[in-house]
Amino acid sequence: MTMLRNRYIAEIKPDEEVKLAGHVYEIRDLGKLAFVILRDPTGLIQVVANRKACGDEVFEKVKNLSKEDFVVVEGKAVANEKAPYGGREVVLSKIEVMAESEAPLPIDVSGKIESTLDKRLDWRFIDMKNPDVLGIFIFQSKLVGYMEEFLRKNRFVRIFTSRVTSAATEGGADYFPILYFNKEAFLAQSPQLYKESVLVSGIDRVYDVGMVYRAEPHHTPRHLCEYVSFDVEMVVTTMKDVLEIQEGMLRYAFEKLNKDELVMKFLEKMGVEITFPKKIPEVSFWEANEILKGLGVETDEHDLTPEGERRLCSYFAENEESEFVLVHSFPFAKKPFYLMRHEDNPEITHSFDLLYRGLEITSGGQREHRYVERVKNIKDKGLAVEQFDHLRFFKYGMPPHAGFGLGIERLTMKMLNLKNVREASLTPRDPERLVP
Ligand code: ATP
Ligand code: MG
Repeated sequence: MTMLRNRYIAEIKPDEEVKLAGHVYEIRDLGKLAFVILRDPTGLIQVVANRKACGDEVFEKVKNLSKEDFVVVEGKAVANEKAPYGGREVVLSKIEVMAESEAPLPIDVSGKIESTLDKRLDWRFIDMKNPDVLGIFIFQSKLVGYMEEFLRKNRFVRIFTSRVTSAATEGGADYFPILYFNKEAFLAQSPQLYKESVLVSGIDRVYDVGMVYRAEPHHTPRHLCEYVSFDVEMVVTTMKDVLEIQEGMLRYAFEKLNKDELVMKFLEKMGVEITFPKKIPEVSFWEANEILKGLGVETDEHDLTPEGERRLCSYFAENEESEFVLVHSFPFAKKPFYLMRHEDNPEITHSFDLLYRGLEITSGGQREHRYVERVKNIKDKGLAVEQFDHLRFFKYGMPPHAGFGLGIERLTMKMLNLKNVREASLTPRDPERLVP
């Protein structure tokens, strides 16, 4: 078997023979010497070509390189304090061009010339040649991986639920109708009804990670029409059980990320720190609104406003040293039908939103598992019971359960202090964007 490379750039140690593969990030030609900055998924390194040492044929190849050619290089790694990336460089002995790149590139990828986000997204996969952009997705992959790792250690089973449904999950207006052969169907807004229904089987802890669809016509920096929903559902005694899992999962991921060398370097480069509080502070929706009123912020009696979310987070960051805040017990009026209502006050639900750095990143709660009560909730929302196929499963021993859904792009965006959720989506979809 031939190997593309024997080392990734981040693994290189001085005095070893290395074979690297990557793209040409920059080239500098100084006559008898040429410097190539090579990029692979783990970083950048300087490759030095010396005509005398590598021979005319190899040197000519180097001189003919274009930015973004994909090459395999061989040479010796040496320590050099003056080398620009990490105090080491590779002295070239052999080079092979595997794929040529057209010049110039449609957008700058060196970070020197700023392009608009729109233009960058038009050229998404070229933009990702910029290590700071690629880094977002490597970070995101690790974030999801660590969250999954925590869940699996806690006996959760991953399920894969359909994205094609016969009814809109929440009965709202923000769904995409599709033609399924000759029937009308909908793209799933969330796996909610499936991840609940499956619990009747006896499996008691599940999670589901996948795209969901929201026909949200607004243009905000926090809404996508397609996003990755990280969903958790479990059998519980009370909502507290799922709150413990949610907090434990995020704490685990934050700790692991903070110990991951590649991530640490990336965070430092991005100038961001991620810290997890000792304990996430919790307030009821009512208490949250009292705090906001005290701060002179306009409140809504049924839901938090975007301004409210921001101000509440600043308040807790200042007063409780936590960038997270959990708001619970939202009114039934604005929450979905499947939430359980308080025994003593049916206007209030066993629900929560987790806010982080000024934005809602998860929504969850205890679900109404009792068939009769669930049907009542649907009717109270003015929805048609017949439209909900899942209900029939709730008649056969559905245990009490609770769960939450977390938006992966939103969490990534906030952890990395990105300005727009689109930056954390590989192929963002919004009312205008359908490519790439
Ligand atoms: P918001 O009120 O902020 O629009 P929501 O309450 O409608 O969000 P939920 O239905 O509770 O959203 O979805 C659960 C989670 O999914 C949210 O907390 C968020 O992280 C994420 N999410 C929801 N809608 C979007 C969207 N349009 N784009 C990206 N992420 C989203
Ligand atoms: Mg929500």
